Amino acid sequence: MSECIFCKIAHGEIPSDIIYEDDKVVAFNDIEPQSPVHFLVIPKEHIPSIKNIDEDNASLIGHITMVINSIAKEKGLDKDGYRIVNNCGEHGGQTVEHLHFHVLGGRYLSWPPG
Ligand code: AMP
Ligand code: ZN
Repeated sequence: MSECIFCKIAHGEIPSDIIYEDDKVVAFNDIEPQSPVHFLVIPKEHIPSIKNIDEDNASLIGHITMVINSIAKEKGLDKDGYRIVNNCGEHGGQTVEHLHFHVLGGRYLSWPPG
């Protein structure tokens, strides 16, 4: 059995606050929200990071983007906007080694990041 926490969430082996699921992806609320709306979208398949996207799985990124836009609209974020974040590797701030996109919204988000 995989020790990856997001694989466990994707396969229902540990509880999470799932807000969307289809055959390819799962979306769930972040356990430590950084904004009024903060959810994560992950592929069900274990892909360690965005570095592992290639010709064979690139279509997944388009699918994830459409899922993000649809959930964001459902949550009323489309008017004022939202931020999609992918952290890659140590310097990118990635702490969970299973590809995930943060979606943050519901307040003004400053830039640049620290
Ligand atoms: P990153 O630092 O980009 O790897 O982001 C990992 C994110 O996963 C953080 O925002 C964590 O709060 C979140 N996280 C870790 N464990 C869980 C969990 N069991 N359920 C929901 N979110 C989690
Ligand atoms: Zn995984």
